[in-house]
Amino acid sequence: MRRYTRQNFHMIWILCMLVVVVLACMMTVNHIASAIDLTSFSGSKKHDVANEDNGWNLILVNRDNYIPDDYHVELMELSNGEKVDSRIYPNLQEMFNAARADGLGLHVAAGYRTQEKQQQLLDEKTEEYKNEGYSKSEADELARQWVAIPGTSEHQLGIAVDINADTTKSSSDDVYNWLAQHGHEYGFIKRYPSDKTDLTGVINEPWHYRYVGEEAAQIIYSQGICLEEYIDMLEE
Ligand SMILES: [Zn+2]
Repeated sequence: MRRYTRQNFHMIWILCMLVVVVLACMMTVNHIASAIDLTSFSGSKKHDVANEDNGWNLILVNRDNYIPDDYHVELMELSNGEKVDSRIYPNLQEMFNAARADGLGLHVAAGYRTQEKQQQLLDEKTEEYKNEGYSKSEADELARQWVAIPGTSEHQLGIAVDINADTTKSSSDDVYNWLAQHGHEYGFIKRYPSDKTDLTGVINEPWHYRYVGEEAAQIIYSQGICLEEYIDMLEE
């Protein structure tokens, strides 16, 4: 009887030790798992690959949706050397004709950009901030508020343009106001409005116009939504 109790005691003791070891193992595994999560989040950026499921004109590219590596674009050169996707050219020309008929002077300041060009712009902006005395990480962060990370710029799609005023003929404000009122009639939207920066991730850019097609542009304009919200609506 006495031996039996001692054996029992040993069994309980071994069981307790086993429980402690198992718990310790589980905690370690958890710890490693969360450490891996953290690394993958800060190390390689978490993002999706943009798709053309809703049509080429409705591809959503932003900080969370990167342009696919194999994205192909047929370019057309404008008279000033800037290039755009040939599919948006007729509407772009029509919009410019209408603006000019209303007495405005304007031009495409930036059309299509390659990945390399986008990287170069980002590097130049970062360098500017470093020269102003900011640390490397501060300069990186500030530059990204102005220049999109390569792979997330709509200029790499060729279906977005930056439009500037010819200031000998009209003011920037006149051009931006005309575009804001009429862009949608030609299938273009003001892609980064001031009241949607939290959704687009980009500050107000009154010069950046993105082709989405007339139907989508009309809805986006009349409902005062941004492309992110429109795509959400389509996919609901
Ligand atoms: Zn732009």
